[in-house]
Amino acid sequence: MSDAHRDSRTAPRAPLRILCQHAHGSCAACCGVHNFRVRSHSAEHARLLRRTERVRAAWPDEAALARARDELLALEAPDVLFAGVKVCPFSGYVDEGRVGCLLHPSRHPRGADLRELGVYPREICEGHFCAPHDWLRAREADLAQTARGLFYGRVVTDAGLVKALARLLDDALGRAFTSAELARARPALDPALTALWDTLRDWPWRDPDPARFGGFVFTGNEATERGVPSCLAGLSLEVEPAVRQVLDALGTRALDDAAAGAAMACLRERVEAVAAALRGD
Ligand code: SF4
Ligand code: SF4
Repeated sequence: MSDAHRDSRTAPRAPLRILCQHAHGSCAACCGVHNFRVRSHSAEHARLLRRTERVRAAWPDEAALARARDELLALEAPDVLFAGVKVCPFSGYVDEGRVGCLLHPSRHPRGADLRELGVYPREICEGHFCAPHDWLRAREADLAQTARGLFYGRVVTDAGLVKALARLLDDALGRAFTSAELARARPALDPALTALWDTLRDWPWRDPDPARFGGFVFTGNEATERGVPSCLAGLSLEVEPAVRQVLDALGTRALDDAAAGAAMACLRERVEAVAAALRGD
């Protein structure tokens, strides 16, 4: 099994709740969609569109798909961030804006499973469920699933980020939010949630180093991962652990007191707005 799956499992039975897709968001992180040095929305979109078009043109001819795979792997290789996480070129747009496996048997005219053509053995594609399936409680998963599009995958695969955001929302409310009230409060809650997720996705204090990903930096020929000190290390500010965790998970650069104050105020403001909408203020 590759390094990519060292924190994962191939379960004999699927979890009761599968987190990979929801009505407005999709994830393909374990197929390597985020494992690139350039991860802007436009670069991700261009990469996924190119894959989708190449695979569609070859579909469902296996020899043509293998050729498309090899061409795409060669094209994308120079921009891959971390050699330890495989990047599968068969992860693309399965629907408008929705990312998934282009080789999934549900897409094949005779239901054939061609996932052996991908970068992992078929049984891993079929049975892999990442650690957040075990680690996230229902209300945390429900909060994560208010994130939309491909950014949802970045959120749901970082259980520490989701848990820290849930803690901040609890703190802002003065009690623990529930799944039921999250559901009840929508769609009135959506503008505040959208503002929160958009801010986190386009985080103004993100480290501009393309080798940085969340709390890690990938260096050397093998792009070995190395933890980086907290963006708030050495500051005299009082900081709740959950705030520090969110900022580090977002790949925040080392901040001085003034910038840290601004980043924390921005985060609090977005979370407060969600709490206010939940309360019906
Ligand atoms: S990283 Fe986890 S949630 Fe995302 S597609 Fe893979 S198994 Fe599903
Ligand atoms: S073939 Fe496997 S690794 Fe490739 S996109 Fe499909 S599920 Fe992911």
